[in-house]
Amino acid sequence: MVAAPAIRYDLDDQDRIVALGGPWDSFALENDGPQVQSDLIRGRPIWSFVTGELTRMWLQTVFQLVRSQKQPITRPYRCDSPHLRRFMQMRIQSGPAGKLSIYHDILRIEQRSQPVYIHYELDEQEISFRARCSFCNRVKQGQHWMEPDAANAHPERTITVTSSVCPDCQGDLQQIGAGL
Ligand SMILES: [Zn+2]
Repeated sequence: MVAAPAIRYDLDDQDRIVALGGPWDSFALENDGPQVQSDLIRGRPIWSFVTGELTRMWLQTVFQLVRSQKQPITRPYRCDSPHLRRFMQMRIQSGPAGKLSIYHDILRIEQRSQPVYIHYELDEQEISFRARCSFCNRVKQGQHWMEPDAANAHPERTITVTSSVCPDCQGDLQQIGAGL
């Protein structure tokens, strides 16, 4: 595949977004709309853009590990669009004075045969919606976590989800902590 420049953002020691690099605007426009264009997000804390308590905790733990250990951490994650499965990787690297640089690389892209529309519900107290893992993209169905394609019984249907972290990805985080 074509090696695109990595999307990057830098955080200061207070987790405020101080710089953005790479094809950020085109990527953000395609995925999240104009509200996340670079000139609108610079200077704001990253936590304004992360939904889900478990997702925030996961990232906070990783940021803390990178800052304290001064070792980069690389984790795969998914950033799908309705038609595409995007396999991404984030690399979090420490800089001077508590700064962090977070690089997002696209590893590979697969086309879906049927689109899957995911709608995010911001009310985390609402339990009737399904949990979606912010990292592996799986959606909880009953006791199982599965690809949204599989969880989506009716093609073209929108799945309403809340951001979460599945047990596998939470276990993954404990391994990272133990490995440093
Ligand atoms: Zn997961």
